[in-house]
Amino acid sequence: MSAFIQDTRSATAAAAKATALQVVDMLTRPPSDEELDAARQLLLGRRDAASHDHRRLAMGLVERAAARMAPRQYSEFMEAADSDAAPDGSRGPPGVLRYLVETTDSAASAIHGTVVESGLALWHIYNMGYVFKTPTLCFGVDVKMPDAKRLASSLDFLLVSHEHVDHRSPRLLEAMLADGKPVITNWDERTIVPNGAQTCRFGDATVKITLGDHGLGRTDTVLMFQIECNCGLGDIVIYHTGDCVRPRKMRPDRPVTIFIPRLTPDPRVEREVRQVGAEYAFPSHAMELGHRRMPFGLRWPWSVVCDRFGVPAADGIDVLTWGERWGLPGSRLVTAD
Ligand SMILES: [Zn+2]
Repeated sequence: MSAFIQDTRSATAAAAKATALQVVDMLTRPPSDEELDAARQLLLGRRDAASHDHRRLAMGLVERAAARMAPRQYSEFMEAADSDAAPDGSRGPPGVLRYLVETTDSAASAIHGTVVESGLALWHIYNMGYVFKTPTLCFGVDVKMPDAKRLASSLDFLLVSHEHVDHRSPRLLEAMLADGKPVITNWDERTIVPNGAQTCRFGDATVKITLGDHGLGRTDTVLMFQIECNCGLGDIVIYHTGDCVRPRKMRPDRPVTIFIPRLTPDPRVEREVRQVGAEYAFPSHAMELGHRRMPFGLRWPWSVVCDRFGVPAADGIDVLTWGERWGLPGSRLVTAD
């Protein structure tokens, strides 16, 4: 082989290697704050303004921003954000934690500022956390977010499926109790602690509680909530099953309008959603920053949940990201801005 050909080949190989490295860098480097801002605007914006492919790209940016963050960094941040020492208006460190602060801030002000004239609006807060608002009530299930206690003034009651830190905000619970508002847990004696199946009434909502299993050997350790109310568009039934992983325990006694199950490593969970037969389902427990990322831990990216449940092709099933709002079709919602 002549020296000329050899030189050309090595130059071509070097150029290909440089391009490959650029692509790897592009796909793995943490996104900039500007890119995360754009992702937030797209994911929290109107659903009809972005295709599912664009949403997947935006989800991918946030997932990448979280990729190098250790669970301990998230836990320490949340502990500080839920303490008296948390400075007002703190935006959090750049990256995924700031993204979490900004999306949940946006949900907190929207919850406060949205008037539901008829129907229902819900906000996905984090992990399994949701806030629901109807013309007469506003309530939360498994709410976890930075500075969650500010939601106490908006909520009429709070339901917490179990004690794990990804499902509760200690200072929100304290604030609710200080305001004399009802809270249901399965561990705190100052709240309503059901002994087994139990029904409670708060305003025009009926909350039917049953017990679910968190996993092997952890029978009846999770509260599951069937919440029934009339939202001006007829009766609706919300079924939030906390961290229950046992499909046979999920037995709502009425047709379900909105079902919120958690994702589990067991692929049978997809069948559960269909077994319950809800009109709308929002599989959750994705992007738990307190878990290590896949394949080392159970921090499922939103994109994986979409794939497992066939979103967007699956009828009535959708995956919401932090801070997103969803309105029951036909609802009349008036927002302050
Ligand atoms: Zn959990």
